[in-house]
This record gives sequence, C-alpha cells and structure tokens, in this order.
Amino acid sequence: MNSLWNDNEIQTDDPLQRRVYTSRLLGSNPSLVLHGGGNTSVKTIVTDVLGDEIEVLYVKGSGWDLATIEAEGFAPVRLDVLLRLAQLETLSDSDMVRSQRAAMLNPNAPNPSVETILHALIPFQYVDHTHADAVVTITNTPNGEERIREIYGSNMLIVPYVMPGFILAKTIYEMTRDIDWNTLDEMILLNHGVFTFANSARASYERMIEIVTQAEDYLALKIGNGKRKIENEEALEWTSEDLLQVVRLRQAVTRLRGSAVLAQWDRSAESVAFSSQSNYADLSTRGLLTPDHVIRNKRIPLVLDDKLDSALAGFASDYEAYFDEFAPQSDQPLTMLDPAPRWAVWHKRGTISLGRNLKECRITTDIKRHTLRAITKAEAFDQWHTLPAHHIFDIEYWELEQAKLRRGGSAPPFQGKIVLVTGAASGIGRSCAETFAVQGAVVAALDIAPATYGSKSILGIECDLTDADAVQKAVELTVATYGGLDIVVSNAGTFPASATIEALDGDQWQRSLDINLTAHQRLWQACVPFLRHGIDPSIVVIASKNVPAPGPGASAYSVAKAGLTQLARVAALELGKDGIRVNMLHPDAVFDTALWTDEVLSARAKHYDMTVEAYKRKNVLGTEIVSADVAHLVCTIAGSAFSKTTGAQIPIDGGNLRVI
Ligand code: ZN
Repeated sequence: MNSLWNDNEIQTDDPLQRRVYTSRLLGSNPSLVLHGGGNTSVKTIVTDVLGDEIEVLYVKGSGWDLATIEAEGFAPVRLDVLLRLAQLETLSDSDMVRSQRAAMLNPNAPNPSVETILHALIPFQYVDHTHADAVVTITNTPNGEERIREIYGSNMLIVPYVMPGFILAKTIYEMTRDIDWNTLDEMILLNHGVFTFANSARASYERMIEIVTQAEDYLALKIGNGKRKIENEEALEWTSEDLLQVVRLRQAVTRLRGSAVLAQWDRSAESVAFSSQSNYADLSTRGLLTPDHVIRNKRIPLVLDDKLDSALAGFASDYEAYFDEFAPQSDQPLTMLDPAPRWAVWHKRGTISLGRNLKECRITTDIKRHTLRAITKAEAFDQWHTLPAHHIFDIEYWELEQAKLRRGGSAPPFQGKIVLVTGAASGIGRSCAETFAVQGAVVAALDIAPATYGSKSILGIECDLTDADAVQKAVELTVATYGGLDIVVSNAGTFPASATIEALDGDQWQRSLDINLTAHQRLWQACVPFLRHGIDPSIVVIASKNVPAPGPGASAYSVAKAGLTQLARVAALELGKDGIRVNMLHPDAVFDTALWTDEVLSARAKHYDMTVEAYKRKNVLGTEIVSADVAHLVCTIAGSAFSKTTGAQIPIDGGNLRVI
C-alpha cells in the first residue's frame, strides 16, 4: 500500500484542513475503511466568542464517511470534559452521547463518533483509526494475537476485543495508565482495527500505511504473491431457471423484511468460485470481518442451495433463536429486528445482495466482497476464526448503531420496486422512467434509440420491441440486474401519418399493428413469469383517446390502440388470479413528445383555425397536458391508491366531449 500524500494538494497549515485531507486519503481506500467505518480526529486550540482559548478535539461526526468528509463533518468537543469522562467508573451510552453533545462548541455539529473518548485519551495531535482488511484478516485467525506480535514487535499496544464506545476507551485508559505513550508505536484492536497517532497529519497517516503494508507483506509471504487471475474472468451466464429462483428469493425476503428489496446477483468469477467450494456454507457462516458489519449484513448470510423455502425458513428461525439466546442478557428490553437475510451465498452461482435500494445493495456487496477475500486469505495460511456470536449481538442491538440506521427519514413510495418502461428515450416514457426513479424505484428504460439518463437508478437498454428475442433478453437483463420485476409501463408506440382507409399504405398499417399492438403482447409474454413473483405487480398500458373517440384518417393507429386496449382487458382477466393488475390510460393532446414537432403542431392548429396555445388547450378544462402529468398518473395507478383496481380505462385529456 502506498502513501497518497501530495504536498501540492494540501498547502495550508490549518490543522482541521489537514485532518480533512488525510481522512479523505484513508477513506478513498476501501481496504482501509468501508462505508462509514473508521474515524479520525485532531486536537487543537480554538478561541471562543468570549476570547477564551479552549482545547478542542475535532472528531469524525457520526453519519459522515471518511471518503467524502468535510470540515463540518468533524464535531468540536471540549477535550477537558472528554478526559474527565474517561476517568468515570461507568457511563451509559445515552449519558455518553448527551455529555459529548453538551461539550460541543457548535451545537449544530453532528454527533461525535462513538470512539470520541478514546481519541481524546491518545496524547497526540492526530489520531487515525481504520478497520484495515489485511490487519483484521490476520487477527481473525486462531493465533491472531501471536501473529500480530510476531509482525509488529513489543512496541505495539495490542488490545483484546471489547465493545467499542466507553468500554473500549475505559479498557485502554486502564491499560495505558502506567505507560508512556511515547514508547508505543501504535495500537491494534483484535478483530476490530488499527489506531495510529502522531503530531503531524502526514506522519499519522503514513504510519497507518506502513502498518497495513507490513500486514500485507506478511500475508503475501504466507500465501504467496501470485495474483489471483480469477478477478478478471468472465461472469457466470444466467439461465431462465436461475432468474426465476432469484425473483422467488426476492419475493420471500421482501415478505420477511416487511419492505420491498432489490436482489443484486453477483455472478463474478470470484463470487462463483467462493460459492463452489465444498465447504462454502461453513466458511461463509463463521462470522464477520469486523463486528460493525452486522448493521449492514447481519451476522451471517443465507446459505442457498436449491431448496429456497426451507433455507429461508431456517435462516429466520435461527435468527429468532439467536435473539432469544442473547436478548435476556441485555440490561434493557429489546425488540427483535426483522429476521431477513441481507445477502445470500448461492451454491455454485455466486452471491446475492438484498437491500432496499441500490445504495444498501452496494454497501452490502462491498462488505461481502472484502469479507470473502479475507476468508479466502485466512484459510490459505490458517483458519478463518471470528468473534463469538454474543459480541456481534451486542453491536447489532447497540442503540448507538441502531440510531445510525434510523437517520434516513421516510422511504420514498417506490423504494425497492423494479419498473420496466418501453419507449423510454423521450416523451411520456422518459417522463415515467424519471418520475419512478425520483420516487425511489429502479427502472429499466427500453428504447430502440439509445438514451442517457441523469439518474443512477435508470438502466438504459437499447431494444427493438418488434424483435421477440431482443425483448426476452432485455426483460431477463432487467431481472438479472435488479432481481425481479414489479411494474411494466407498456408505452412504446408510433403515430403513422394521417391517411384514409382507402389511401392507406399496407406497410404503414402493418407497422402500426406491429409496434402499437403485437410488440406489447410479446413484451407481456416475456414479463409475466417474473411479474407473477413481483411485489404488488401491475402493468400500466398507455393506450389513447382514439380508443373511445377515434378520428378520421387515423385507422392504423386507432385500430391498433383499440386492439391493445382489448388485449389489456383480457390480460386483466387472465392475470388477476396472480395478483397482477392491468390498467389503461387514454392520454390525448400530449404535445411535448417526439411525435409532435413545432411544424406539425402549427399545421394542426391552423387546420382548426386556432393559435397553437389555444389548440393545446382544446378540452373541457381548458388545460394543457404534458408528459409529466401522464407520468404522475402512471405512478399513481401503479401505487397503493389503485391496489384494488384492475381492467380500468382512465382518460387523461383535460376532458373530451366525445369521451364524456
Ligand atoms: Zn472501529
């Protein structure tokens, strides 16, 4: 591991700015800290408004990530108060949090890290703490402590695992009472991480890099330095049966968790190789890389063979037994958290992350990936051996950790939902994709024309809907990416040039039927096997005002849309038993779409002897209808307000005399 320190990037002498800089350097390396793990601090003197000079510890605020932390992510706490807290015999978590907040110079700063008192105790200006993979991997073996002594020698303070927070601070306070800190190089917490300290930001940071490099070198020596080529190999191809297993897993986990989850299947060669070992079940359930990972990934993953239902029931009952065993030892009454797994190891097929949104999935996947690598390394020279379950329980049910999870506000309405939209490059389709994404869903956006989207929750898929194989592939790609399918917005269409029946070109007629009718049928055929296992599944069909009120010269369009409406009514009848709702929208005069150029619009307005503005509002309400209005209605129909409605046809046209 190399130091990333660069004098050109940090030219100020301001201690807090230098603290921010090296915190980010640490945070940028996922083998040092992952998603909110680790913490850093700096001690300095601040002059308050009264002119008094105060010794302050700036410590990482809870909820901030080292990779992206800013100066305001550090909480300024009076050092003298923290040092007095360290001398108390006992201190409850809530008293610790309250006292630390009360000692802050800025009441608007975030809650100081749970390790604040420990940072205060270390008599150096800069203190850096990480959960470095290499070091933790070595300590997660039966002889971890001896190995650490062998690597680092006698000047390393080695601390056996204790609960983080006040207990850890108190333990170190007692251990170091009669020790001169200047004789210590640094500190390793078994099964937890590393602390380095120095009077300069650079020295403390570079000590961390050195410590970790020593551990990496040790591992390389023990295991051999051969690069594992597996990381570059091809991912596993999916089969339709595999995808059905994934959607069934997602459906069952959603029920267990009480809210919709995504299922992101990691088919990488590395993940598949791990799950193909004969002892994959034993290896993956021996425990976590560091105890704080329990908050994201639970103590163990679901071990999945071909018997999904019994595997999941077993996971849930084991979780209840774990709760029943350790909850009585808590000094306060506890409520059991949901017993749903956060990830699964699937025999010979890799792993699956189960999170309520993409961010949760990403965190789970990152933690899982680092954990599996650590297990593989530990097994290569010794044995993967982690903390007993009761320590993990203490962290999982620690109020300070649970508080971190609760800080997110309420969930958006479509969180965890998976939507497929056709004709999604522009107009109504694009607006639907974007609106669903804003409301928390992930979206597969199909279109014949490639498009890019601003949201990471939208996956653009180029697809010709008249090509049945391409449609099947696009639907399978959606399921393979997100783990299921809940909502299909069957929107793609074409509006042929006006022609009387007598003058109608045969190709034009056929093309309208192909795109406006047959393509929808093929799409639903591909979607239904997955929708059947969806969460409140539904199909929303964008039909047309032309269905109830056709116009002359539009036979190719009106007939195809009427056929589509009839198809949707039959679908509502057929799919009701599976809980799949099918509803239709009849929009009219939505002009902000690719079909309506300024020229066409002016020509139509002229035809009616109207201005363009008046033509746009030619309806009972005298209102203009835009794509976003239609998208809003599509979301509403796919949402809970319409959960008891199927087979309905709803106009969105500002009121049309012929329809009313
Ligand atoms: Zn830690």
